Amino acid sequence: MNQFEPQYDAVVVGGGLTGLAAAITLAKAGLETLHLSPEVPPDRRTSALMMPSVQFLTDSGLIDTPEALGHALTQIRIIDATNRLLRAPETLFDAQQADIPAFGWNFANIKLTESFKNIAATLENITTSPCTLAALTLSDAFHTLTLSDGTTLCANLIIGADGKKSFVRGAAGFSTREHAFSQSALVCDLALGRPLNGASVEFHYSNGPFTLVPAGANRANLVWIDQDSTLRQALSGGTEALTARLMEKSQRLFGSLEILSSSFIFPLSTLTVNKAGGNGIALIGEAAHAFPPIGAQGLNLGLRDVADLAQIAGSINKSDPNWASRASTDYAQLRHADLVQTGSVVDALFRSLLLEMLPAQALRSGGLWALKLLPALRKQAFAIGMGRR
Ligand SMILES: Cc1cc2nc3c(=O)[nH]c(=O)nc-3n(C[C@H](O)[C@H](O)[C@H](O)COP(=O)(O)OP(=O)(O)OC[C@H]3O[C@@H](n4cnc5c(N)ncnc54)[C@H](O)[C@@H]3O)c2cc1C
Repeated sequence: MNQFEPQYDAVVVGGGLTGLAAAITLAKAGLETLHLSPEVPPDRRTSALMMPSVQFLTDSGLIDTPEALGHALTQIRIIDATNRLLRAPETLFDAQQADIPAFGWNFANIKLTESFKNIAATLENITTSPCTLAALTLSDAFHTLTLSDGTTLCANLIIGADGKKSFVRGAAGFSTREHAFSQSALVCDLALGRPLNGASVEFHYSNGPFTLVPAGANRANLVWIDQDSTLRQALSGGTEALTARLMEKSQRLFGSLEILSSSFIFPLSTLTVNKAGGNGIALIGEAAHAFPPIGAQGLNLGLRDVADLAQIAGSINKSDPNWASRASTDYAQLRHADLVQTGSVVDALFRSLLLEMLPAQALRSGGLWALKLLPALRKQAFAIGMGRR
């Protein structure tokens, strides 16, 4: 092959969950795909995925059944643990009220990664490389990539799935809006004296929510959002002191509490792009959008990126010399409304949880009262929260 002809139809840059899902999807649509998936430490996070995301995973063969890998989320319990003047009522949302068996499923990212990798290994038109992308030169016809081992190759379509600090996004000149928060998230696995029985329990404190997500039997995954300094201080005292702190934050509602894993701290920020594609480049997952883990939207939105990419890949006509440019522009158009809507909802929700201003407290507490009392509004909130379009 002439070195100036594209060796691959598509290159997916990034081996996180969205990159893996995209590489599989593009290969299944018949594109010769190179997947750049450098070795990284295991992703110890868990992901609450709403039913439309779970449906996409099963329909596209990325997982067999949710039961085999995850734990059903059947209730969401919100407890206002602030000492603000205007506090919200304790609110319980039950999936039965929305006429569905569960809001979604909670998965360990490690298990999802394993399932996706097993599928990728069965597809002949995916080549997986442990290299990172070191340089990207754009041209109208196709793009030239230099990998970390010095290899140079050409491809028509580049998928940036390389996370918040995306190299692809920067090299292709997509503009971003970013905001770093002083809060971080601490995550770890717990065993509780009393099981959560499918209920995700959110304690809303004024520095951020403290959420226990069911992980089967008496286990729970903790996502504690607070000032970064508070979390680091809690971690520095050792396991016993941290256990006592977590008992206090969970208001001793679950009897005993044991920490089962190491704890990890993730700094929080938001990132949005003005458009998610064009000129033969498409951005997916955190390369296109990042939010604090509130209302479990991050990977849910990333999987919707992949679902839209799959739709476009299914109608690619490779005899059109501009197919990659057209596909990336169509992708950006298809994603626009969802990215804008989800970004603004999550941002407003996060800020409303943290604001000390009385009008904001009134709005939030009034909003929760309304959700508690008005079935029609509750159904609409379920639909938005679950990413129904
Ligand atoms: C504490 C926490 C809890 C969360 N909980 C939930 C939840 O319950 N539900 C939910 O929907 N979302 C949740 N999220 C969000 C979710 O985890 C992320 O949206 C998702 O994991 C992002 O996946 P990604 O593939 O886009 O990016 P990443 O997982 O960041 O993967 C990017 C990959 O690109 C690779 N890379 C970077 N640069 C290069 C390069 N130059 N060349 C090649 N590869 C490169 C990196 O090595 C990395 O492996 C949570 C996030 C946090 C922080």
